[in-house]
Amino acid sequence: MVREDKTRISKFLKVEPECVNKLNQLNPALVSTALDIYYRARQACIPMHIMWTRRTEEEQRILYQFGRTIPPMGIITTRKPGFSPHNYGLAIDFCFKKKDKLITYEQAYKRRMYKEWWMAIVKEFMNAGWNAGMYDREFQPGHVENLLGKSIVEHRNAAQSKKTYIEGFGFV
Ligand SMILES: [Zn+2]
Repeated sequence: MVREDKTRISKFLKVEPECVNKLNQLNPALVSTALDIYYRARQACIPMHIMWTRRTEEEQRILYQFGRTIPPMGIITTRKPGFSPHNYGLAIDFCFKKKDKLITYEQAYKRRMYKEWWMAIVKEFMNAGWNAGMYDREFQPGHVENLLGKSIVEHRNAAQSKKTYIEGFGFV
């Protein structure tokens, strides 16, 4: 009989239920890939943590005000409400979390191992067909999105017409 290798299992980073909940709020077409990447990162002891997935337009409206009408935090998002892939469950913001402390890319990239881990995650998403914005002007490390072959305006129009759209999910 094969004995369960407990020492190895104990080294895995536990899955954080709140992160799994957030990933489950993505468009259904994106959930399994996103969960898979998250689970594998934790298994590899990469402290991947999910900050945001789906945001309501109201949440987006508040975030958009940071750095604009709400001082002094600096700009968090460049997208107005209704124009963020987050509004349709098509984007993930991740960071690292160690001992209850959030580690942003700005902090992670100074440490070689962290930087490698970060890029490994970005690569996983890119291999799965997501856009990490590496070559975009608005590149935000830790933000990955997958518009499922449509434009943000198409998603917005569909959400507003509610015809080809499943409430709360978007194109499926
Ligand atoms: Zn984002």
